[in-house]
Amino acid sequence: MYSCEVRVIHREFLEWPAQEGTIGVMTTTARHRVVIIGSGFGGLFSARKLAKADVDVTLISRTGHHLFQPLLYQVTTGILSQGEIAPATREVLRKQRNVRVLLGDVRDVDLTGRTVTSFELGRATTTPYDSLIVAAGSGQSYFGNDHFANNAPGMKSIDDALEIRGKIFGAFEMAELSTDPVEIDRYLTFVVVGAGPTGVEMAGQIAELAHRTLTKEFRAIDPSRANIVLLDGAPGVLGAFGDHLGDKAMKRLAKMGVIVQLNSKVVNVDGSGLEVERADGSRYRIESSCMIWAAGVQANALTKTLAGQTGAKLDRAGRIAVNDDLTLPGHPEVFVVGDMISLDNLPGVAQVAIQGGRHAAKTIMARLATGRFSDTPHRPFKYFDKGSMATISRFSAVVSVGKLRFSGFIGWMMWLVLHLVYIIGFKNRVTTLLHWFVSFIGRGRSERTVTEQQVVARHAINAVGADFNPFDHRRLLPGTPQSAATAKPEPVSAPR
Ligand SMILES: Cc1cc2nc3c(=O)[nH]c(=O)nc-3n(C[C@H](O)[C@H](O)[C@H](O)COP(=O)(O)OP(=O)(O)OC[C@H]3O[C@@H](n4cnc5c(N)ncnc54)[C@H](O)[C@@H]3O)c2cc1C
Repeated sequence: MYSCEVRVIHREFLEWPAQEGTIGVMTTTARHRVVIIGSGFGGLFSARKLAKADVDVTLISRTGHHLFQPLLYQVTTGILSQGEIAPATREVLRKQRNVRVLLGDVRDVDLTGRTVTSFELGRATTTPYDSLIVAAGSGQSYFGNDHFANNAPGMKSIDDALEIRGKIFGAFEMAELSTDPVEIDRYLTFVVVGAGPTGVEMAGQIAELAHRTLTKEFRAIDPSRANIVLLDGAPGVLGAFGDHLGDKAMKRLAKMGVIVQLNSKVVNVDGSGLEVERADGSRYRIESSCMIWAAGVQANALTKTLAGQTGAKLDRAGRIAVNDDLTLPGHPEVFVVGDMISLDNLPGVAQVAIQGGRHAAKTIMARLATGRFSDTPHRPFKYFDKGSMATISRFSAVVSVGKLRFSGFIGWMMWLVLHLVYIIGFKNRVTTLLHWFVSFIGRGRSERTVTEQQVVARHAINAVGADFNPFDHRRLLPGTPQSAATAKPEPVSAPR
């Protein structure tokens, strides 16, 4: 059975060869076609910058939402709902008539044929482009120990956040059920690996949960006796903020009861705890049922596909070396932005992605305005560092802007205002402010809903394989091997 849907935009009508179980979509247009991969900071801000350009934009993303990652830890700890930090991309872009949003996991980019192939539930879609902006971000790095993720999930997606929320609140529930003091200790020990901004924010929020929010809710256990451990292989916390702010953060964490263990490298993680190696090589074990990984990132695997076709170098974190105008060597029509790039030691932060996305869009518009694509004037990317910040607890944050350093309440107010500005959508800003009021002035956490599926899904998906397609009828036929039923349609090159 073959099925084929052909979309016609503007003048031409072309059929794209479809394969079994797939639909080929060929969009052709008289206008310049810009394809954007990713709906994160780089993708969304480049699409918005192209609002008034005479182009057709197709934004393809693995998720249907734009995720504001800096506030993920507030979803995990019940302060915010996922909708507040992850509005639907097509809703955000609904008024921008030159953009089409497609759901799809991009697995192949053909730089010679200038096409992008994405997959969704076994359906392949190939989209041609004239200019391409790749903004597919990064994932968690376990430094070669990917199996740690089974028991110590990272915090990169809404799935991760909801799973971790389930683990945190579930640990208190299990402790209340238990009568064994050793088991209760394990349930009430929370370990965060990585003392960068995400780890510090996470540990601080679990401490606030244990010491403020949950104190009166349990009868058998005392949540305030929870152990919150923050581990890092480095000698200090918040290394990128310098010693002064790092020391302030350490003091604040200690005051909140967070146990900070530095120069400590995690060497193994299992279902009931983890093993840690000190700088002197000695090892010890921490029993815990709730471990969260906030150490290290790895660029999206699409960088391998792009490097394979251009010869561009990848660094240790898998980031691809780009030209100073963010284009790929030999391909001025292809831009890579955000967490995927290796350029002048730029950090993996939202502003690098936002400014990079806007730069790519502006370059495309400048080329269109002059009509010069091959000998276009060179426009190097100039990053403007707006500083960095991290919250430690309510009313306490550290902020570094140029030579200025702020901490405590002033830092927290700066953090609050800046995050409100960058949250997408007026409604989300209002509800976020309301939730912050409830959590920071009061003690409440109104987003504590947890479902069983959120907590067990990672293990179930691992068991059936990442390419399991529940809607493929063939998997229901008796005797059909799972591998055959879920075989990926060709062509596929970049793994998820
Ligand atoms: C928990 C956490 C806290 C953070 N806190 C801060 C902070 O306080 N300040 C700060 O500046 N930065 C922070 N960051 C970093 C910041 O969020 C990133 O630097 C930024 O999101 C990078 O933007 P990007 O566009 O490169 O990638 P992302 O925003 O990650 O977007 C990538 C997009 O690509 C899509 N995608 C991925 N692979 C594919 C594929 N194969 N096919 C199709 N689509 C794909 C994803 O679904 C996503 O939409 C934080 C990150 C995390 C995880």
